[in-house]
Amino acid sequence: MSFVPIRFGGWVNKFLKSNPGENAKDVTARLRRALEAYKAGAQCACGEPIWVIGSAEAGNACFTCITGEADPSQDFEIAEACYKPPKRSGNRRQDWSAVLADPDEDSESPHDESFKQSITDDDVPF
Ligand SMILES: [Zn+2]
Repeated sequence: MSFVPIRFGGWVNKFLKSNPGENAKDVTARLRRALEAYKAGAQCACGEPIWVIGSAEAGNACFTCITGEADPSQDFEIAEACYKPPKRSGNRRQDWSAVLADPDEDSESPHDESFKQSITDDDVPF
């Protein structure tokens, strides 16, 4: 059960073609108001997230409550309202070249050996 995503401007043009009496400014304003409501977490009276395209015309409600149909797979929804924002941490790629080319791999060889050997029992009082 999923909508067919459409760009905001794409839907406005489509809507105007099938509704020649409408004016682009009003359609855009209604759609934007519904999209903002969706982003703010607006829900239908039944508890579902609102259907932005339908809510622009019919008031904030979900697809099923507006159309009476259960399956929106043939219907459009604004793309921004179709996808959850991706998690930032999920898509980062590890840069392995920086890890494998480590120039300090011999850094454990001791540099203070001669200093240690110079200390003998003769230097310690008692
Ligand atoms: Zn509903």
